[in-house]
Amino acid sequence: MDTAANNSEVIFPKGEPAPADYFTGKVHLQMLAQKTESNEYSVGSVTFEPGARSNWHTHPAGQTLIVLSGRGLYQEKGKPVRTINKGETIICPSNLEHWHGASPDSRMNHIAITNDKGAGGVVWLKPVTDEEYNAHEKG
Ligand code: MN
Repeated sequence: MDTAANNSEVIFPKGEPAPADYFTGKVHLQMLAQKTESNEYSVGSVTFEPGARSNWHTHPAGQTLIVLSGRGLYQEKGKPVRTINKGETIICPSNLEHWHGASPDSRMNHIAITNDKGAGGVVWLKPVTDEEYNAHEKG
């Protein structure tokens, strides 16, 4: 059953489906704060269903991810896929190619604080292939 327990893991409203051009699987995005004159970042809550992930991408001014629930995966180009868990904070440096998503067996919700210093928030690249996604199993 789906499950109140699962649903209750997401603190914020789940929001709208994220653009299919930039994500694989089922992903929802709820913006919590937009960039304004007085701050140079946006804040969103992103919920990935099991197996779902972003495309490869970069952030011209970096991004901070705070995992609020579940277990996910995170990979920087050229490095192994790593598991990320509820309570972890991940700092993505500027212009470093990476992706993030849920693990195969867990929903994952994270806050994304994305810096935008006039260069835009995200540069979207290729989808993460199943082979790339499943590489975490080889540890
Ligand atoms: Mn990112």
